Amino acid sequence: MQDFAIRPTSCGKYDLVVVGGGQAGCAAALAGARGGLKVLLIEAAGALGGSAVNCLVNPFMPDVTKVPDGNGGVKNLHLSQGMYLEFAKALDEEGIYSRPNPSATFHEESLKVILDRKMAEAGVKVLFHATLCGVKTEGRFVKAVAVATVGGVLSFEADTVIDATGDATLAAFAGVPFQLGRASDSLCQPMTLCFRICNIDVDAAWRAHGEINALYKKLQAEGKIKNPRENVLVFPTKLPGVMHFNTTRVIKHNPTDAFSVSEAEAIAREQVVEMFNFLKTNFAAFKDAALASTAPSIGVRESRMIEARHVLTQEELIAGTHFDDGIAAGNYDIDIHSPDGSGTSHYYFPAGVYYTIPYRCLLPKNLDNLLVAGRSIGATHEAQASVRIMPICICLGEAAGTAAVLAHETGVAPADVDASVLRERLRANGAFVG
Ligand SMILES: Cc1cc2nc3c(=O)[nH]c(=O)nc-3n(C[C@H](O)[C@H](O)[C@H](O)COP(=O)(O)OP(=O)(O)OC[C@H]3O[C@@H](n4cnc5c(N)ncnc54)[C@H](O)[C@@H]3O)c2cc1C
Repeated sequence: MQDFAIRPTSCGKYDLVVVGGGQAGCAAALAGARGGLKVLLIEAAGALGGSAVNCLVNPFMPDVTKVPDGNGGVKNLHLSQGMYLEFAKALDEEGIYSRPNPSATFHEESLKVILDRKMAEAGVKVLFHATLCGVKTEGRFVKAVAVATVGGVLSFEADTVIDATGDATLAAFAGVPFQLGRASDSLCQPMTLCFRICNIDVDAAWRAHGEINALYKKLQAEGKIKNPRENVLVFPTKLPGVMHFNTTRVIKHNPTDAFSVSEAEAIAREQVVEMFNFLKTNFAAFKDAALASTAPSIGVRESRMIEARHVLTQEELIAGTHFDDGIAAGNYDIDIHSPDGSGTSHYYFPAGVYYTIPYRCLLPKNLDNLLVAGRSIGATHEAQASVRIMPICICLGEAAGTAAVLAHETGVAPADVDASVLRERLRANGAFVG
């Protein structure tokens, strides 16, 4: 007779352990290692890049606003700089599928390799195929994390821990209170399984876009299309004859319930087949097309948002609030895909108006050495709908990793890091903090 053998094998101590190798986690790990920390980056999948890789999310959403240039004109200001621009530049220059004309579209195969190389150069120890399965806390401190691997359960101690899982899974395991989805009913923005179709006459497909949407809406109204999304959302790719579809919509499912997510994956796959058949049957541009791939995992726009020392609100965003402890900035529209049906609502920021994100949004209320970076920081459903985009998540990761460095240098807990010093260090490293 044998019971569950879950006693972890202890694997030593790091200055910083980052759980989640999405773009936020990668930026956090890089900032930590470049600041001299011994860093472990733990990732459940087999590659870095997070949603861009596991869920085929593309392109980078815009991060630019217009500001006065001092000569009576206006100039573009990037609100996400630092490591976001570093990643984007690497995708332009070093990628397997480089971006000859820099654009927001990138190829995830390049991103994977670029991030591997950056981690190796900075000395970050990367552990793939390792899923967080436990957290040890003492008082207001996380002491160790446990991960399930093919070789058994391993544990790692750390001075500072960063939760970059996107779902605030580590924080939840550690007892940090959170809000799931919107306040009224905990429904989250829909999940979407992205997919790619190849062998398309791409120019003809763009020309037919209006016609495609008109027929889609007609068939949806007649009950012949089940997908509740209001239109066909499609983007270019770097590959000839290939288009990227971000257009499935699974509503009223819970991204933090494994059974609910499993059901969502199957529903979304049926929507992919429905969309592919619709395009191939009705439009000449798709007559020779084939379904190239669906993403390895369904994409989650929103799940848990931690109860942080500050919870960012829509009102603060719209007012263009610049916080004293702002560590990242944004003006992406408040883009809410309906959690319970058709439609997507938008609030667009006027030119020149942007908000900043306080350092306190990364700090759980009840723990002092845990930072949360990426889409699960302290924000309401509405505010999260703007801050969740990849450029901003990278900046949040960079800020969290830099805070870990300052905590180490000054011998204080991350929660006690002086935000003005953090802002100065981020600026010195090329970030924009408002
Ligand atoms: C369908 C969809 C379309 C989107 N479209 C765009 C877009 O066009 N442009 C844009 O800029 N943004 C877009 N977004 C938003 C953006 O992709 C995400 O909000 C952003 O990538 C989140 O980054 P992150 O680093 O916080 O999390 P993620 O990128 O999700 O990374 C989290 C990482 O943690 C790992 N992980 C999770 N749990 C564990 C665990 N228990 N143990 C170990 N590892 C774990 C995951 O495998 C993953 O690699 C979209 C999102 C979705 C879902």
